[in-house]
Amino acid sequence: MDPIIALMQGVLDIVRDDNSGSPASYIPELAAVEPDRLGFAVVGPRGHVRSVGDDDVEFTIQSISKPFVLAHVLSRIGLDAVMERVGTEPSGEPFNAISLEEGTGKPANPMVNAGAIATTGLVEGGGVDDRTERIVRTLSAFAGRSLHIDESVYRSESTTGDRNRALGHLMRSYGIVDAPVDVALETYFRQCSIAVTVRDLAVMAGTLAFGGLNPLTHERVVEERVARDVLSIMSSCGMYDFSGEWLLRVGLPAKSGVSGGVLAVAPSQFGVAAYSPRLDRHGNSVRGQAIVTALSDRMGMHLLEPH
Ligand code: GLN
Repeated sequence: MDPIIALMQGVLDIVRDDNSGSPASYIPELAAVEPDRLGFAVVGPRGHVRSVGDDDVEFTIQSISKPFVLAHVLSRIGLDAVMERVGTEPSGEPFNAISLEEGTGKPANPMVNAGAIATTGLVEGGGVDDRTERIVRTLSAFAGRSLHIDESVYRSESTTGDRNRALGHLMRSYGIVDAPVDVALETYFRQCSIAVTVRDLAVMAGTLAFGGLNPLTHERVVEERVARDVLSIMSSCGMYDFSGEWLLRVGLPAKSGVSGGVLAVAPSQFGVAAYSPRLDRHGNSVRGQAIVTALSDRMGMHLLEPH
């Protein structure tokens, strides 16, 4: 057996029996998932995707869309223009906190909901369809295949999205969001509802790992500098109010989403993704984190370790 697949199987076996946590329930469609799903994928510099477990099951990308939409707007308008609207400090608060900077209304960073909604508000285009199309096109380029939206999750997100709408209205009152609130929000709900597999997420992580160059298609998706900026923000803010401890223990830029995906990046080495729907109290996948942690330990991938 391929030694990397053997290692990956070994990691799955370690985490398989942990059924702590529970799937997100605040969006009805997310609560309906099969909680035992477990998948794991890795892509290296030659674009060979290796995967084990439920590697062909689609789930919605949720918050893992945030770094890629950030990459899109950074490419279009640059870091300074983005930073006029969104900060880059870890919030230390839950992902859906109603929390904006005193006086300016700026959200803490683009990885929490408020900051992601502000970022999505910066995507160019007339209406929701136009903006969504640009986002789907960018995320598809990162994944190396055409992605689509799960319409029933989108409807569920939109029906239950009042907290996010409230954030949108607050930010528009401060001029952080220029787009009409419903346009920014429905685009954000659609971006969260893009369907992916762990293999897609691993390739997306790989594209960031290799400086914006997709290791599968060899397409340059974003400039090296944009990939670096996105990874910097993922390092400090990607795991919500667990980001500091994650960097300490695992040492890799990462991003999680409430459907149970986790993606991590070992710069110049690997893109990694895991899927398991049960979440801990921070909203991060329990077994997804365990998989990435075990891989980082076994392969000595902590960024701050001398190599
Ligand atoms: N759709 C989700 C929301 O905004 C995304 C959040 C997440 O994955 N943490 O509520």
